[in-house]
Amino acid sequence: MRGNRMETSIRTKEKLRYAIMGGTFDPIHFGHLAAAETVRQKLNCQKVIFIPLGNPPHKKNRILSDPTHRYTMTVLATTSNPFFEVSSIEVNREGYTYTLNTIEELNKYYGSEVELLFITGADALLEIETWYKVEELLKLCSFVAVTRPGYDKSMLEQKLLYLQSKYNSELHIIDVPGLNISSTDIRELIKTGASIKYLVPEVVEQYIFKHGLFRE
Ligand code: NAP
Repeated sequence: MRGNRMETSIRTKEKLRYAIMGGTFDPIHFGHLAAAETVRQKLNCQKVIFIPLGNPPHKKNRILSDPTHRYTMTVLATTSNPFFEVSSIEVNREGYTYTLNTIEELNKYYGSEVELLFITGADALLEIETWYKVEELLKLCSFVAVTRPGYDKSMLEQKLLYLQSKYNSELHIIDVPGLNISSTDIRELIKTGASIKYLVPEVVEQYIFKHGLFRE
């Protein structure tokens, strides 16, 4: 009896769950937005924080658009969703940006009451063992790989099982029934003068043309 009373009086406070949507967002498109919203709902996240990357060590073979443009497009694209936020934590960082530093900073800022999930593309996650201090990173947050329609998941599933047993980490695969869009395709369409309507939010399309992005 006494024990039961104790059990009911000690209530474990449930952690808040915030998803971090990390990506280049050059440009952000409806595929990213649909992925973030799907993960938010399926994994019961209170919000999604979009973090456009700053100066990444792994992008040496392509010149990215200015971080200010990528950040602004992300803000414009996410304004209409009350569960979405954008952080400039990486675009403002001097030197190379590593996901580990970002997660450490966010953990410090939000404290132990918040659990962080990192969302990224399935292809990016397949390469995770090349990331900076991956073992530490996988201890600090769970990872969510989002897949596009038609994506062959067999390799990804094997990789996730391997990562789970090697690092004792929490990883998820979420299928996004959204559109089959990629930033690479959008940049290519702009270069050839083709339309990008209905691939990116209208405000993002206007911003791209106003600033003459991706023409070359
Ligand atoms: P990427 O290699 O450019 O992207 C690989 C694939 O994943 C692309 O098809 C890309 O599609 C897709 N993708 C990327 N981010 C996505 C997202 N949030 N949601 C859905 N699809 C996504 O990847 P990246 O953009 O450079 O990097 C992704 C994240 O991983 C970034 O936050 C980056 O900082 C982190 N990362 C960290 C390290 C490290 O710490 N050392 C190393 C590599 C990556 P789109 O082109 O259409 O976006």
